[in-house]
Amino acid sequence: MIKVRNLHKSFGNLEVLKDISTDITKGDVVAIIGPSGSGKSTFLRCLNLLETPTSGHIWIDDKEITDTKTNIMKVRQKIGMVFQHFHLFPHMNTLSNITYAPMKVKGLTEKEANDKAMQLLRRVGLEEKANEFPGRLSGGQKQRVAIARALAMEPEIMLFDEPTSALDPEMVKEVLEVMRSLAQSGMTMAIVTHEMGFAREVADRVFFLEEGKLLEDTPPAQFFTNPKTDRAKVFLDKIL
Ligand code: ADP
Ligand code: MG
Repeated sequence: MIKVRNLHKSFGNLEVLKDISTDITKGDVVAIIGPSGSGKSTFLRCLNLLETPTSGHIWIDDKEITDTKTNIMKVRQKIGMVFQHFHLFPHMNTLSNITYAPMKVKGLTEKEANDKAMQLLRRVGLEEKANEFPGRLSGGQKQRVAIARALAMEPEIMLFDEPTSALDPEMVKEVLEVMRSLAQSGMTMAIVTHEMGFAREVADRVFFLEEGKLLEDTPPAQFFTNPKTDRAKVFLDKIL
């Protein structure tokens, strides 16, 4: 579903991603782990061209998105993204946050979009907050709305960039629960996370990035007990 070949990304003289190649199969849940500044967010953002790779190629569903002829807006519709800081529209209530893109981009009627949004709000346990504005929601609730909003576009792939890092500890679980059930439904997911327990339990593969290199692509059971590289051992020793 996602094919990456020889991906490089530099910001000026700073080489942030160094020759990354990998394949992510439909239904895979990939946890992306590594020290701060190792290029995790940049890698994720390259997958939907929020960052333009300096060189290399990325295919989504056999379409090369790094080909300048590809309609990137179309490709992006297949990819949902959830950020650390939610990025909800503050002046819209929960329901409108979710219905906006499906109506604007997919041409759903208001009724269709509303029905779908209510269904998604039920799925993330927030039906009763449909008319609430983001400013009156907790962090965990905001993040669940953000997930529902991304799902409303019916993406084939979901990207998460530290979705629980800005949350108070008691709210982490409710968001991870939603992500866990999404993973169980067969969604293809790439998740940058510091939640090692979650990665271990839910991910099919762990990517370990350091200094812009994809040093490991390892099943979690092995990664957390016996990683392939000394770099990963040192990293795990520091955080576990
Ligand atoms: P991570 O998510 O693993 O913490 P990032 O991908 O955010 O790492 O960043 C990797 C490196 O690239 C860091 O050194 C960061 O400062 C740098 N970087 C990220 N985005 C930009 C940008 N837009 N302009 C310049 N440097 C950037
Ligand atoms: Mg980051």
